Amino acid sequence: MRAPLVDGFGRVHTDLRLSLTDRCNLRCTYCMPAEGLDWLPKPELLTDDELVRLVGVFASMGVTTVRLTGGEPLLRRGLPGLVARLRALGLSLSLTTNGLGLERQAQALKDAGLDRVNVSLDTLRPERFLELTRRDRFDDVVAGLAAARRAGLEPVKINTVLMRGVNEDEAADLLRWALEHGYALRFIEQMPLDPQHGWDRGTMVDADEILEVLGRSFALTPVGQRGSAPAERFFVDGGPATVGVIGSVSRPFCASCDRLRLTADGQVRNCLFARDESDLRAPLRDGVDDDELAARLRVAVAGKKAGHGIGEPGFVQPDRPMSAIGG
Ligand code: SAM
Ligand code: SF4
Repeated sequence: MRAPLVDGFGRVHTDLRLSLTDRCNLRCTYCMPAEGLDWLPKPELLTDDELVRLVGVFASMGVTTVRLTGGEPLLRRGLPGLVARLRALGLSLSLTTNGLGLERQAQALKDAGLDRVNVSLDTLRPERFLELTRRDRFDDVVAGLAAARRAGLEPVKINTVLMRGVNEDEAADLLRWALEHGYALRFIEQMPLDPQHGWDRGTMVDADEILEVLGRSFALTPVGQRGSAPAERFFVDGGPATVGVIGSVSRPFCASCDRLRLTADGQVRNCLFARDESDLRAPLRDGVDDDELAARLRVAVAGKKAGHGIGEPGFVQPDRPMSAIGG
């Protein structure tokens, strides 16, 4: 074991978001334009062997949990095989997915060692789903969620981004539906990470508003301290069911952030909103040893800023959109 990954503010990093691809089979309007983005060329993507080696270095420095994401991670070929190899490193593994194809893959992923899934779902209305994602695949997501639960990938969580004039009227319906089906719903504030640069703080549906709207239909009581977890959780109607609210913008949790990101092309990002990245792919392909990779990773972590700075005068949105960073 190497020494833990501690930054200049004493934050210890134990959680890695690993992007497996920047591609996606949906086109959520807040995340991608209809025509998609300029996908990373295949040779630039880390191979499974490269990914496993790099994650091994992270693990040797105290990373214990890995969340697989993207783009759409289920599009990565041979995903169960990769999951099994990451599992063999002794990591706790979860997956963030849009749910397409989860019905088919859930059991194999569970068997390979995946612990949990988060499925993104912003609406319960199929016609609205089509408008929002530009694909008519609502039923596939619902089937994916059910398959995840059957496979025991629990707790099955749902991530919902509420947007003004788009789906804000569905907050209570979504929570009711999630509770009926035994899914743990979390509402996420929209962040300035869209390639269109259309995000506007003034129109963002923030955590206060989400809680106010939910409070009209349910009695919410705080579950307690959130620690380093981004979601503030609330018991619904006395519990035991809960709902989570992730106020990344209005209630930032940067002070207790324990997270790092590795993009599908091998760049370490010490924050979702970082303006610079540290390349691990080039040294890896140049043949450096693990000690050198670990040293570079340590430098990347040491440079982490105190907070994301959204709303501060000099804030500039990162060049990479969410789908290419790994949400
Ligand atoms: N394709 C997978 C999915 O949709 O779950 C994984 C990647 S996606 C980028 C991860 C999460 O980020 C999704 O829940 C999505 O709704 C969310 N997301 C995308 N753009 C966002 C933004 N600008 N602000 C907040 N969340 C965003
Ligand atoms: Fe794809 Fe996820 Fe972005 Fe939607 S939010 S376009 S599913 S990457």
